[in-house]
Amino acid sequence: MTKIDEKKTKKAKKNLVKVALFGTLGGIGINHFGSPTTLPELYYSVTDSFTTTPTEKKIEENFGIDYEGDPNEERQKELEDILHQIYDNNPKLLTYCKKIVLHSEAVKNSSLVKPFLSYNGLSYNGYAEGLLGTINIINLSVGTIAHELAHLKDYHAPKEFHEQLDRIFGDSYKKDLKDGKIEVWNDDSTEPRNGFVVPYGANSPSENVATYIGRSYSPQFWEDEQLHQSDKYLRTLTLLAKYDFISPKQFKEIKETLENNPPLTKLFKILNQDVQEKISTKK
Ligand SMILES: [Zn+2]
Repeated sequence: MTKIDEKKTKKAKKNLVKVALFGTLGGIGINHFGSPTTLPELYYSVTDSFTTTPTEKKIEENFGIDYEGDPNEERQKELEDILHQIYDNNPKLLTYCKKIVLHSEAVKNSSLVKPFLSYNGLSYNGYAEGLLGTINIINLSVGTIAHELAHLKDYHAPKEFHEQLDRIFGDSYKKDLKDGKIEVWNDDSTEPRNGFVVPYGANSPSENVATYIGRSYSPQFWEDEQLHQSDKYLRTLTLLAKYDFISPKQFKEIKETLENNPPLTKLFKILNQDVQEKISTKK
């Protein structure tokens, strides 16, 4: 028996215990659109123990994160690249992540599993289990992974962090959302508003934090004009940097983008002032 075989056998035994536990307890501490099914969870727990790829091994060794799920090595490599990208930007975002379950396309689209991967008629990109330090990834992208990792970090964040976040946002959650919707404002727009980077962030403080972190990996997003209508964006980013959700380097880059892109109205005022000055000097 090789070392890996040994590891896999141990893992298989551990997984069987977990399957039994999950059968009775269900998901604990799950954060996202609510409590999803345990069916894919059980599927991966059982099947993962039979295959190992060099990439899976690298993920587990380099990041100290247990990998479970899709046996397709190309997708595992995509995940590995994303983890490197996050690590290079802010290694502290990975602190509480013990396991990543990458849901496979084949399983995701199977008629057996698909109905269970929807919650309230909406499909979700991923979900985090704070207590277990596990993130489940359905849509493989840096935005989704950063979002779910942020949930894990938020789960462990000190009370002072949440108090300071509350001081910025107060009771503004769930205010302008369209009735019955969680991802659209009441005027059908989805633009940043009132300090929230996307409407989904207005559902709860934890989704607010996670949507900010997801967006922190889209540099162009911060050029959005709407972000100049409230100082809450910069205040929130400052707080997120203070508690290591984003690194000082990320904070500096985002802040510069925000400040280097004044909205058109402001530009117009500057331009207009300039023209007025020229007219007055001509007189
Ligand atoms: Zn979320």
